[in-house]
Amino acid sequence: MTPPSSGILSSASSLLSGRHILVTGVANRWSIAWAVVQSVVKNGGRVTLTYQGESQKDSIAKLMEELPEENRSSLLLPLDVRNDGEVAKVAERLRSEGLTLDGLVHSIAFAKREELDGAFLDTSREGFLMAQEISAYSLVVLCRAFAPLMASGASIVAMTYLGSERIVPHYNVMGAAKAALEASVRYLAYDLGSSGIRVNAVSAGPIKTASGRAIKGFIDMQKAVAARAPLKGQDLTSEEVADATAALLSPLMRAVTGEVLFVDLGYRQMGMV
Ligand code: NAD
Repeated sequence: MTPPSSGILSSASSLLSGRHILVTGVANRWSIAWAVVQSVVKNGGRVTLTYQGESQKDSIAKLMEELPEENRSSLLLPLDVRNDGEVAKVAERLRSEGLTLDGLVHSIAFAKREELDGAFLDTSREGFLMAQEISAYSLVVLCRAFAPLMASGASIVAMTYLGSERIVPHYNVMGAAKAALEASVRYLAYDLGSSGIRVNAVSAGPIKTASGRAIKGFIDMQKAVAARAPLKGQDLTSEEVADATAALLSPLMRAVTGEVLFVDLGYRQMGMV
């Protein structure tokens, strides 16, 4: 697979100038979260990254070296969303460094591979709860931990997918988790709105990442979008999803909260054809 182009210096803007964004969910350079990091940097923002588990640490540290120093904090912190202690430590560390946040990107999901194949009817209790905990409840956990570090005007964005509201064969347990995630976005938008903090989701079309490829039939999902979406004949890129995310993180979207923004070449708007 060809790595996505860096794009860091293409079409630079100052949309996110002076804004510090905590980005979760970078696993490798194909991760949507890594494209978001590049878009934040390209638009003048500064990032702090977290990683899930020691196995990711060195490769993410190496990726970070590709970013201009002025656009990243020196912190790279472990954060497994099932581990309340780690979440609290990230917040404490930011606080002790005197860092505040203008944005948070939740780009995290997990389901057991066997739950993304076969029938939803066969979903195990453990698999259902695990997908909900990591992919949906984690947004509540992160908002509770990091909203106190945010001032009015901050923006939180989570990544979701159409399988939350439509039947996408094999998406199964993750569809239920994304439905919970999107409902959580709305309730969190309500709770945090009085502090001037916005909460939205980006619903991305299929992108070839480690998580995407774990879903049986993923290639067919991509082909369907390329064939049927109004913006036809092209594969959606992670850069396009990331730029929309950067827009939501920016003050241009200051009156938008509780929304799910579809970045899918228009595929969701199609009827049966
Ligand atoms: P990815 O595999 O690169 O990213 C998933 C991330 O979740 C990884 O960084 C992984 O470390 C993290 N994660 C899993 N369990 C975790 C835990 N317990 N604690 C902390 N982090 C954990 O894949 P991606 O496609 O970039 O996925 C990012 C987000 O985008 C997910 O929410 C996914 O559902 C969503 N999304 C992806 C697509 C797609 O087609 N790839 C489409 C729509 C939405």
